[in-house]
Amino acid sequence: MPIIDNVGYCDYGDFLRRYFDCKVQKIAIDAGFACPNRDGTKGVGGCIYCNNQSFNPAYCQTKITVAEQIARGKEFFARKYPEMKYLAYFQAYTNTYAQLSTLKELYEEALRQSDVLGIIIATRPDCMPEELLTYLSELSKTHFVMVEYGVETSHDATLKLINRGHTWADVEDAVTRTAEAGVLCGAHLILGLPGEDMEHFIATAKRISALPLHTVKMHQLQVIRGTRLAKMWADGEVVLKDWSADEYIDVCIEVLKHLRSDLAVERFVSQSPADLLICPRWGLKNYEFTNRLNNKIKAQRIRQGSDA
Ligand code: SF4
Repeated sequence: MPIIDNVGYCDYGDFLRRYFDCKVQKIAIDAGFACPNRDGTKGVGGCIYCNNQSFNPAYCQTKITVAEQIARGKEFFARKYPEMKYLAYFQAYTNTYAQLSTLKELYEEALRQSDVLGIIIATRPDCMPEELLTYLSELSKTHFVMVEYGVETSHDATLKLINRGHTWADVEDAVTRTAEAGVLCGAHLILGLPGEDMEHFIATAKRISALPLHTVKMHQLQVIRGTRLAKMWADGEVVLKDWSADEYIDVCIEVLKHLRSDLAVERFVSQSPADLLICPRWGLKNYEFTNRLNNKIKAQRIRQGSDA
């Protein structure tokens, strides 16, 4: 049954409350993985917008163990909420890109820490071997386990342009196999990739809605210093959207209307560190952006899935 909360969309907090009767917080982990799209296995140079520095919080550094990263994360959050429980979020690079024995060690190290109730594993859709899915399927019987696939767009021409090194068919295959294994599954999208407009975003919203996904998170394309995208943009090789925050809010609303109504939406926006971010520079904290978006959704009585 579709769950739409009072903001007009299926909120990620509501989704988590289906599994936990307590407050849960994700703790980002950098377990020191590499990426097959950087080391030549799938591609070289990585995705044109990628700079992993922009998505690691300060407590999360490869030199310290998973257990220590969790301890530091807990220390950070528990000051405000002593009752908080946690999900270990394997976030940096490709968190399924290692031998099964290594992966098991790292995931289980996280699950052994007190107050950690589950794991979320971010990865690429072309990096989910069957033996790992079998293991995750077993682990799901005793713990909260979710795989978050970097989908970004459903358009192969864009995937090629951004040097993703995988196709939409890889996404369909990975998501379907993950759902069949009984493992929770989310998709990550980027809105505003070069060459895409509203028609592309809506097509992607419809295509991901047809897959057996549980959650989606999206954010605006950000141009980060030192990336290939920054150079391509400076050299005039790509044209990028120069949205204001309010224009981007209208894009989010349109996408929301085309998303399946029971797909939990985790986020709409992301904010890279100011010293790394070239554009867009809206000067809004994520929660300020989301408040503005929620107000507009309420004022216009928008409903997720109304045009799906
Ligand atoms: S798959 Fe992820 S880590 Fe690898 S290059 Fe792309 S964005 Fe970076």
